[in-house]
Amino acid sequence: MFYIGCAGLAVFAAVWPAFLKTAPMLVTGCRFLAVTGLYCPACGGTRALNALLHGHVIASLKLNPAVVYGAAIFVWFMLSQTAERLSRHKLKIGMRYRNLYVYVGLAVLMGQWLVKNIIKIAAAM
Ligand SMILES: [Zn+2]
Repeated sequence: MFYIGCAGLAVFAAVWPAFLKTAPMLVTGCRFLAVTGLYCPACGGTRALNALLHGHVIASLKLNPAVVYGAAIFVWFMLSQTAERLSRHKLKIGMRYRNLYVYVGLAVLMGQWLVKNIIKIAAAM
């Protein structure tokens, strides 16, 4: 998992700037939103990630809190695993996989989806 995280980070650092340049041309908007008039669970994800990468944590939380949760878990995993490996496993602080992290992430994702749509529906009334 740690090496996959390192590889993912390298690919992300290489691809993200180019993605942001071409994204406006590629992205035509959310299909779920266009068909149903409601947000999908991932709506705001790209903008939330971009805001987070620019240090705007509150703005990122407002756009899609699941992005902040996922980023926090990823950063803690990578830092704790790096510290454990640098200490040659004398420090046993490396984050281990737990189903709870996935359940909390899904709860955040679905919770923010419900709240955003309830607010949208209430505003339309
Ligand atoms: Zn969407």
